[in-house]
Amino acid sequence: MSAFIPADAVGILDSPEDVLSTLHADGSRRWLYPTPSTGRFWRRRLLVGWGLIAFFVALPIVKIGGRPAVLLDVAAREFTFFGFTFYPTDTFFLMLLGIALLVSVALLTALLGRVWCGWGCPQTVYLEFLYRPVERFIEGPEHVRARRDAGGWTLDKAWRKAAKWGVYVVVSAFLAHTFTAYVVGWERLIGWMTGPPTEHWPYFVMATLTTGLVLFDFGIFREQMCTITCPYARFQSVLLDPDSLIVSYDPARGEPRAKRGKKALAAEATGEAPPLGDCIDCAACVRTCPTGIDIRDGLQMECIACTQCIDACDAIMDRLDLRRGLIRYTSERALEGAPTRVVRGRTVAYGLLLLAVGTVFTIALATRQPYDIDLGRAVGDPFVELADGTVANRFRLRVRNQTATDGSVRLDLLAPEGGTLRVGAVQPVPVASRAMARVEGFLVVPEAAFGGDAQTPAVVRLTFADGSTRDVPFTLLGPSR
Ligand code: SF4
Ligand code: SF4
Repeated sequence: MSAFIPADAVGILDSPEDVLSTLHADGSRRWLYPTPSTGRFWRRRLLVGWGLIAFFVALPIVKIGGRPAVLLDVAAREFTFFGFTFYPTDTFFLMLLGIALLVSVALLTALLGRVWCGWGCPQTVYLEFLYRPVERFIEGPEHVRARRDAGGWTLDKAWRKAAKWGVYVVVSAFLAHTFTAYVVGWERLIGWMTGPPTEHWPYFVMATLTTGLVLFDFGIFREQMCTITCPYARFQSVLLDPDSLIVSYDPARGEPRAKRGKKALAAEATGEAPPLGDCIDCAACVRTCPTGIDIRDGLQMECIACTQCIDACDAIMDRLDLRRGLIRYTSERALEGAPTRVVRGRTVAYGLLLLAVGTVFTIALATRQPYDIDLGRAVGDPFVELADGTVANRFRLRVRNQTATDGSVRLDLLAPEGGTLRVGAVQPVPVASRAMARVEGFLVVPEAAFGGDAQTPAVVRLTFADGSTRDVPFTLLGPSR
């Protein structure tokens, strides 16, 4: 290993008391200096990572049907995904989306292991392709940083740290605003940013707190988000099976490992020691690991399948003129010499469940009513007997226009015969796109419509701007005589 990186900084001095790769036995933080291994997987991850960063940033900016591609407006209780807006009344859709998400995670993990963690998770993507490169650019490579960090404060150390944290603050503020834009939208956010602080102080508090959290996460907390906090890591033991794709060391090929010193080679040549495996115990795979583990110890919860150890070991194998893949994407079953099975009980079950949920969701979405209706009794007296012998029931109607165009609704009383519907607003009542209109009025019917009973059914017809109609039942209350 490098002469300047403390051995414990790359996790190779673990003692039996060590619990986590990022902690010392006494519980103090073991700061890691993972060296980048810029092999074939790194190059692919770099492309995917920057594509995803652009995607994450673009989602709240790009508009589909006049709305951001993704807007989770909790305050307005509206959730927009790629042109479709869902409301709290759409619990069925939200439930299906939640189930689809969970089943997708289970299916993806069963097939491809923690590929999300290594390739797609914002924690990995931003840390590996944004924050660490900034750190390397300003503070230098890992062995230089480790040596400088271990030493006292100098002018050189001070300006580099100040410059790095200065860039981190700017980047974190941008990310914090991007995250916030998912919840409030950029337009509202820019309005707050450019408005007087006295009017928008909650925004400044929120922006400062969010920036601070992002800064803490990517500047300090780092890999501990994956090894300690993230619940997905805890679930992987039940989501993975022997056929799942994992990043693994091949012990059958690598062991017995040994450095290729003269003594070891001589012992192997004379038969005093068994033939050496391909692992030369160089620890390149450990030095490059962003979570500080040794993949040669087997599958571990801390492994985020980032493929850095594959690239590191492939480079060593190239130098030794040995076959690549001592560490590789494989499965536990393949390591035992059997073929990996893609089609198996859990993948079929997850796949079928996902198909069923997707089908139900698609049908429900295709047949979704353009207007969400809620007709009910208004607060106050249930009915009023009028001097002309009629009975008036007060109602309230809430109509949400779920379409991308402005519309309107007209109300008529279909039954009982002889009744009238009176509303304060001018009919038809306009309902703007994705807005809710509230209408209050009276259903006035002759007392004879009750036939001596205390109640009688009524039907209110709603006619929308597109010509479609909905007949909504309503129970009229009256005097029983
Ligand atoms: S990089 Fe490869 S050769 Fe070196 S210690 Fe790791 S597994 Fe062994
Ligand atoms: S063991 Fe390898 S794949 Fe797993 S986190 Fe470490 S470097 Fe990444």
